[in-house]
Amino acid sequence: MKIVEKLEQELKKLPGIGNKTARRLVYFLLTHKSVSKNLGKILLEIEQRVSKCKVCGNLSLKDICQICEDPTRDKSTICIVESIHHIELIEKTNVYKGVYHVLPNLISLIRGKNLDEKNIEKLIERSNYAQEVIIATSPTIEGEITARFIYNVIKDKTRVTRIAFGVPVGGSLEYVDEVTLAQAILGRKESEKKPQFKSAVKTGS
Ligand SMILES: [Zn+2]
Repeated sequence: MKIVEKLEQELKKLPGIGNKTARRLVYFLLTHKSVSKNLGKILLEIEQRVSKCKVCGNLSLKDICQICEDPTRDKSTICIVESIHHIELIEKTNVYKGVYHVLPNLISLIRGKNLDEKNIEKLIERSNYAQEVIIATSPTIEGEITARFIYNVIKDKTRVTRIAFGVPVGGSLEYVDEVTLAQAILGRKESEKKPQFKSAVKTGS
């Protein structure tokens, strides 16, 4: 059946879905019509109603997202993330009160991918009015190359910081790999110092 193959092809485009899982999902959906129906409705609604915030690239039902629109958020601190999902992760920490800038992708030497020109132009423009830009790309090779590139592009416009990486809280040093431990040592800070997020961060006082 062509439609089954089509569904399988589409499912395989989702992150973390390989051949076997795609097949399993296809059969599940074929035999659970109510799930398929609801999924179809939700996906259609997402396609029709959800778009990207014109300022930061976050998901939004309006032109401007809730975070950019929120008057209590510090617009002078911008946190660069590589994925909309990472906004959610940072929001959950409840320590960051600035705004965001979402990169559509990271620089990838292997896949020959560069950053989106328009997105970077917008970032440069936004950096002119920012007091601090925090680069929160992952500590992967692609994340580090991208962080370095962005730093060079905006370093003359504003203060640029990089999120710290290191030992997980509650973890023993015995289980931390060398690279992570090295980053933790290099990114060390004064014992008394507050977290590295400054103006846009709750200090608890
Ligand atoms: Zn926004």
